[in-house]
Amino acid sequence: MKTENAFAELGLAPSATEIEVKAAWRRLVSQWHPDRNDHTGAVARMQRINDAFRVIRRSGFAAASGDAKHAAPRTEESPDAHATHAADPQRRTVSRKIKLTLEEAAAGCTKVLQGQVTDSCSTCTGLGYRLPGGTCPQCEGSGEVRQAAWFGWAQARVPCEGCGGSGESKPACPDCHGTGKLAPRRYKITVRTPLGVRDGDLLHVDGRRTRSSQIHVDLHLRVDVLKHAFFELEPDGTIRCDMPVDGFAWIANRSITVPTLGGPQPLQLDRDRLSYRLKHQGLPVERRGPRGDQLVTVRPMFPERLSTDQDILLDQLIAASAGADGQATDERLRAWNQAMTAWQKDRVKRDTAHR
Ligand SMILES: [Zn+2]
Ligand SMILES: [Zn+2]
Repeated sequence: MKTENAFAELGLAPSATEIEVKAAWRRLVSQWHPDRNDHTGAVARMQRINDAFRVIRRSGFAAASGDAKHAAPRTEESPDAHATHAADPQRRTVSRKIKLTLEEAAAGCTKVLQGQVTDSCSTCTGLGYRLPGGTCPQCEGSGEVRQAAWFGWAQARVPCEGCGGSGESKPACPDCHGTGKLAPRRYKITVRTPLGVRDGDLLHVDGRRTRSSQIHVDLHLRVDVLKHAFFELEPDGTIRCDMPVDGFAWIANRSITVPTLGGPQPLQLDRDRLSYRLKHQGLPVERRGPRGDQLVTVRPMFPERLSTDQDILLDQLIAASAGADGQATDERLRAWNQAMTAWQKDRVKRDTAHR
């Protein structure tokens, strides 16, 4: 039987998914089972249905599926999605995430990734039972059993639990002991990430160049850069860092310690500036390109309430900023104060003229 004919036998289009194929097979088997179907062609039809299922199974459900979600046998116990490699059936491609800190993304890092690959049993295509099965011994192929009657009620017939109502027994597959899955095989790969990778980048690791324990896997990795406690990364590789600083230390032009990707660094404060640029402390914009800068914005913090000592010291500071003539010593302040005095005099003069 050709694959196209097999699909037609089950009443399906060749694009039917594995789930659709199995559902159609179960439906037809329960309909055409010779024990329940008196039709003269029932035995032959039953044979064709099972043959069709076997042909489709052999051709692989991947070919029978346009939906990637159902294309390859998947497992639930690990987040890994894996597919058989076309050229080498012992080779798998595993898609997974690799989580990096911003520091690791910037400088590149080495990570050991491990996980497991669980394949569906090829003997039973993951069903867990042998095909075709015999007649269900619990219901003798009828698909129904008599339920123990309640007082005053007629005996009801309910679907047989042994066969799910199909009338067909499902002997456990000997190769997978009825689980439908093969024993998981572990892999362990050392991955070296390149410098300057970004969140969402895709990396491919050829498993042939790395050690893997029980199975050969290639990795499709999606980079997941973790949120940093201090830094915001801009698309151009600039790293922004907003940080509070002691307001008095800022006024006093003191040196502070700022975080950078490479570790803590000293920064000389300047009381005329709130923004500082640290050259080449960001991420490269392009691979192997020059690194962006880090922009540090400081927020001077002053106490909400001054202590008596601080109040006295500030009074001294304000007094000291006036010259011997009682005027401000700073040129800009002196010019402003003179302009204010002139403006006020002018107002008084005009007020008098209007009366
Ligand atoms: Zn099996
Ligand atoms: Zn049964």
